[in-house]
Amino acid sequence: MMALNNNLDTCAICGGELGDTVLAHDRPDRFERAAGVSEEKYRRAWVGCLSCGSATNRQKPENLRKLRNIAAQYYEVDFSGSDIGAKYSLVMSLPPHKSDNAGRVDRIIAALTRWESLRSSKGALSVLDIGAGTGVFLSRFLGQVPGDWTGVALEPDPHAADHLRSLELFDVKQELFTGQPELHGFKLLTLNKVLEHIQDPKVLLEQVAAAIDPAQGLIYVEVPDVMTIGRRPPTDNILGALHCHLYSPTGLVRLLDRAGLVVLDTGRVFEPSGKLTAFAFATCTEAAERLATRE
Ligand SMILES: [Zn+2]
Repeated sequence: MMALNNNLDTCAICGGELGDTVLAHDRPDRFERAAGVSEEKYRRAWVGCLSCGSATNRQKPENLRKLRNIAAQYYEVDFSGSDIGAKYSLVMSLPPHKSDNAGRVDRIIAALTRWESLRSSKGALSVLDIGAGTGVFLSRFLGQVPGDWTGVALEPDPHAADHLRSLELFDVKQELFTGQPELHGFKLLTLNKVLEHIQDPKVLLEQVAAAIDPAQGLIYVEVPDVMTIGRRPPTDNILGALHCHLYSPTGLVRLLDRAGLVVLDTGRVFEPSGKLTAFAFATCTEAAERLATRE
């Protein structure tokens, strides 16, 4: 999940043309410093898409190469000294009005209720969470969703995967999602703050589209909102070197569309943590047809 951008002139989200720099950084962030990126002649810039308004993180190739090495140790840098289990307990204990995850779980359960036919017929109720991280989302979702759901957490980071297994609340697979056949047929597939790490998100979403139950599956995608630029300090994690893109809701819709999915809903969330987030629900053409014809 840590592929990083090259210096391309095309928006990987919508296929449109990239325009002007909307934010420039003149010093490395903590991930780059950990990777040995030099401050001398440093430059990194967010470039806006003329078509969808999303932003692409444009970086020097030599810095990208160094970052690729550190990307594999994301959690070691991110939690520098602190423990993933402690972070999990802290976030799980947040009251709902202060929890980004509580809002996310509410949105998804409301969607499953609204589009009941996506979950009402044959097959087990199963959720695949790609890039499960600390597991707070999946724990809260499985604890709250009505019905007999089971979950699979996909998390390539070994430290995070160890922590997820210790929770004993869902299956854990310590691997990247590559559309592997054993991960097919899910009723719900979630990508929470994952796509921004991917250089070519369309390829991943095409694999995701193939992994849900074609007649009933629902996909939930959440990404950092391009509105972050200019409204949060340049040192904010969201604007860091490990993120390939910041999305506009328009860009997210076009990307899902280009991946062959049907968008059911999209919007912006101003999260309790201060994060500015774009989200979308999507499904396959067959499931959208069933919703439209009330079959
Ligand atoms: Zn674009």
